[in-house]
Amino acid sequence: MALIVQKYGGTSVGSVERIQAVAQRVYKTVKAGNSLVVVVSAMGKTTDGLVKLANEISSNPNRREMDMLLSTGEQVTIALLSMALQELGQPAISMTGAQVGIVTEAEHSRARILHIETTRLTRHINAGKVVVVAGFQGTSNAGEMEITTLGRGGSDTSAVAIAAALQANFCEIYTDVPGILTTDPRLVAEAQLMDAITCDEMLELASLGAKVLHPRAVEIARNYGVPLVVRSSWTDAPGTWVTSAKPQGRSLINLEIARPVDAVEFDTDQAKVALLRVPDKPGVAARLFGEICRQKIDVDLIIQSVHEGNSNDIAFTVTAPILKRAEAVAAAIAPALRSPSNPKSDEAEVMVEHNIAKVSIAGAGMIGRPGVAAKMFATLAEAGVNIQMISTSEVKVSCVVDATECDRAVNALRSAFEIEAGGQGAGGRGEAGEAGEAEGAGEDKLILLSPSLPSTDAINRVSLYSSAVRGVALDLNQARLAIRQLPDRPGMAAKLFGLLAQHNISVDMIIQSQRCRVIDGVPRRDIAFTVSRIDGESAKEMLTQVAAELGWGEVVLDSAIAKVSIVGAGMVGQPGVAAKMFGALAEHQINIQMIATSEIKISCVVAQEQGVKALQVIHAAFGLAGSEKFVVPA
Ligand code: ASP
Ligand code: MG
Repeated sequence: MALIVQKYGGTSVGSVERIQAVAQRVYKTVKAGNSLVVVVSAMGKTTDGLVKLANEISSNPNRREMDMLLSTGEQVTIALLSMALQELGQPAISMTGAQVGIVTEAEHSRARILHIETTRLTRHINAGKVVVVAGFQGTSNAGEMEITTLGRGGSDTSAVAIAAALQANFCEIYTDVPGILTTDPRLVAEAQLMDAITCDEMLELASLGAKVLHPRAVEIARNYGVPLVVRSSWTDAPGTWVTSAKPQGRSLINLEIARPVDAVEFDTDQAKVALLRVPDKPGVAARLFGEICRQKIDVDLIIQSVHEGNSNDIAFTVTAPILKRAEAVAAAIAPALRSPSNPKSDEAEVMVEHNIAKVSIAGAGMIGRPGVAAKMFATLAEAGVNIQMISTSEVKVSCVVDATECDRAVNALRSAFEIEAGGQGAGGRGEAGEAGEAEGAGEDKLILLSPSLPSTDAINRVSLYSSAVRGVALDLNQARLAIRQLPDRPGMAAKLFGLLAQHNISVDMIIQSQRCRVIDGVPRRDIAFTVSRIDGESAKEMLTQVAAELGWGEVVLDSAIAKVSIVGAGMVGQPGVAAKMFGALAEHQINIQMIATSEIKISCVVAQEQGVKALQVIHAAFGLAGSEKFVVPA
């Protein structure tokens, strides 16, 4: 017998008939010998309707009253579903978030969960009842009890948090799509359903997956090792498992706010190759990494900075023992990238750096919390460590620093983020095991599943992990900011990203140019990063205002960009993946403006009007296209 948490979204409970169908499914699951907690959303578009009503009365409704209003939607559904279950002869009881004891921060309209009381839930479960819980809501217990909501789409988060608190065998998210697809089916009709994906991959695909599954729900599943499956409420198809590595015995107190960072990792076995001033035209990255792939050289980070004039810098890191070979490839390609008219120019200069180390912070709690990366940069600055390269992703921020400063950097980061040393000595790779998000993180987890339900099936389908790239995402809602001539000294990144964090502006890709120029006796580099498009103008204005004071140059904004990303844990140790992505773009004459990578993701910025095309050609290049077409629900 398993304890299962099921969550049904708005469409799944959108009418009396749908609620009755849900009751049938719940009833069948109980009859199969399981205990159930069911979390529900408001019926259909109820929440949107309530928001509209509020906006008719006030252009800026009070947040407390908004929570009071919006929490009513779910309350309707819990009562109706409980009645439907009782009609079937199934004992059931409905409960609001407050009745359960879903304790949250006192932040109206975006509260995070602190703690979930399980006594009342457990008592009813033990009495043989199905407990039907209102999603998306909780109660703050600081001072006076208040009703809070978790933010739009928050019922997924309620469900996974309840599953974590009850240590349920798994959590099923029932929705109106068959699961998680390899890309957006509205843009690529051949998108395929995935059988399984890891939480880290899912988080990296945030812009793709967020519509199906609230990223905060994925964070909780990852942190507590809750097996999660996204399925259609219209069929019995198995859906997509979202898997995670073994739980780390995290406390259930401060559930959503404890420790955004759970590991500090380092790797001193790194070297960097940079190709400076290469032409800004399609095909350059494809050529370089195509050759690197043919030589079977495995690259780690790749970055291409925003171009200055009409040339780019591309840099990548490799493990130290293969530096010579990587350098040889870059040197062999360089002449072909120089303009024939002026072969002696300083174009395509190869630069290598031996003594570097990569230090990273990893954790699922960084999404939407710009302060975390800023804190890393500030910590390094305080320790006097200069950052040479930055690579960011949803679940990791990595900085390349001088190898001699690695120990200092790691110690400072461990104490800043309260991470215990974990027994790794200095040198070599530290805590790299945790990057075991890599191979087969999924297998671990799937074994934990109760053998009684669709899970056995999922175990057989894990073979899908063999494909390196799981999904492709397009983000058309970003803008790029470039800051010219930022002084190259410790503390500048900390200042810059600290300022952005203070203004609550989340930064996505961050790329520091390789090219260093000495102006007024100060070495300077450009730095570029992407933000949400809605933050673009205000970020530009704010950063321009402090330019003179902080000693940097012009701030340039480009809103006409698109970011296309491939994600897959299997790309670790697979040299050809980047080459294939760049090759697909080159073949279609799509120019790459910026490149940034992390272990499990490669992102390219391209011109906005080429975004959809870029997505389509990359999706096809990785053989993700299936024959089945998905009908997109309206
Ligand atoms: N009803 C809420 C919303 O529409 C919460 C949810 O459905 O997840 O945002
Ligand atoms: Mg939803």
